[in-house]
Amino acid sequence: MVAKTPESSTGIGLQARRVGDGQASRLLPGLDLVVTVLTAVCRTMYGEEKMKKIAKTAMQAVLAAGVAAAGLSAAFAADIKVIHAGELLAVPGQTPKSEQTLVVADGKITQVLDGYRAASEFGADAAAIDLKEQFVMPGMMDMHVHIQMELGPNSDSQRLRMSDADVAMQSVHYAEQTLLAGFTTVRDLGARPEQIYALRDGVARGWIAGPRIVASGGVSVTGGHGDIDGMRADLMEKYTAKTICDGGDDCRRATRRAVKFGADVIKITATGGVLSDTNTGTGQQMANDELKEVMDTAHGLGRKVAAHAHAAEGINAALRAGVDSIEHGSYADKESIRLFKETGAYLVPTLLAGDTVVKMAKNSDFMSPAIKAKALRVGGDMMSHFAVAYKEGVNIAFGTDSGVSKHGTNADEAVLMKQAGMTEADILKSATVNAADLIDMGDSLGTLEAGKLADIIAMNKSPLEDIAALTDVVFVMKGGKVYKK
Ligand SMILES: [Zn+2]
Repeated sequence: MVAKTPESSTGIGLQARRVGDGQASRLLPGLDLVVTVLTAVCRTMYGEEKMKKIAKTAMQAVLAAGVAAAGLSAAFAADIKVIHAGELLAVPGQTPKSEQTLVVADGKITQVLDGYRAASEFGADAAAIDLKEQFVMPGMMDMHVHIQMELGPNSDSQRLRMSDADVAMQSVHYAEQTLLAGFTTVRDLGARPEQIYALRDGVARGWIAGPRIVASGGVSVTGGHGDIDGMRADLMEKYTAKTICDGGDDCRRATRRAVKFGADVIKITATGGVLSDTNTGTGQQMANDELKEVMDTAHGLGRKVAAHAHAAEGINAALRAGVDSIEHGSYADKESIRLFKETGAYLVPTLLAGDTVVKMAKNSDFMSPAIKAKALRVGGDMMSHFAVAYKEGVNIAFGTDSGVSKHGTNADEAVLMKQAGMTEADILKSATVNAADLIDMGDSLGTLEAGKLADIIAMNKSPLEDIAALTDVVFVMKGGKVYKK
């Protein structure tokens, strides 16, 4: 696992804050220069005596503005919301409590109290939110999405027709759908890098309604899953990412490059993949030296590594190299389970992706023969291998591969996890506490406790009684702001 650095423990929005700070420090020297020039001009025009008067008037204006600003900030000092929860699962894994009051101030939870307490107790302007008929829990977290794309008959041609700006606009739309479905945090594991980092930062700045995004940079090998495929040679040359690598040294370079341009986490493709239009199976594709160099480099830079892996030898090689999460894990075997438990790495099952590609292979004809064959085989095998891994006590974090499935239907994963034998309580934990731990944000997300961010959702039925309740979220708050009610 990664040693926590102060930076990696704060995680999301890092890049956004850096941009903001940079702008401020660039502006200030400019302001100094303007003031100096203006003062000199005034001195020439008005003379020394008049200048003293001007300075006095200016100082009074500054003071008046300061007083006004202080008044304003007092008026907006605390944005307090008081939520009355009919049933509250504050800490997934524990038993929910009925008739609870959650106090939210300036985006964070400040108190969780027994009984319904009047909003006026917490401030004259405190707003009450009535969820007395609802089941209330922390916002869900999806550890594997592709927020920029949605698989379908036209996705191949769209890749060529849509500009980067089009893709960015589309991803704003998908991000909103995801948030309104109750997912307040996602980890994006594969996108056009510049656009996904801009989306992440736009959400963090409050410009866009979307989930908090932990964004990856992808590192893959030539011709492997994650490299470009299925196009004319000249187009493939043009679109090959600069983080495609071969050999340990080159993969070290690619990892550094991904972090340099903004990756919060490194996504690698340890094995072949279903949706690569190549007949190269789902076996190990990244060599052991390449895996090792990516892990060591990423961890040294305070970044975790998520490995796409289907075949057991690829899962096991990635786990031995020190990976933090295995995505899909379709053919995890006995040795995989031993390694998962030894390292504490998470399995992110993405059963919804398997279910989706099997249905597409059977009911549509847009998949190439190579993709169709892999979809039917792998998609059909994911569930049984996941069931064994769960029973054996492997750490599991919720993840869907949304973008293969439709954005906003992420909670369908929970229904499939239940079908595979996972308990409702463990499913809720995988989508909150465990996911927060995987992205090193357990101190601010995953439960509803004093000091944590107010990412809160509600539904009309208890998902502990019927897991499908998660597919009908009726209330969404993120960072204290209500997005759905
Ligand atoms: Zn994926």
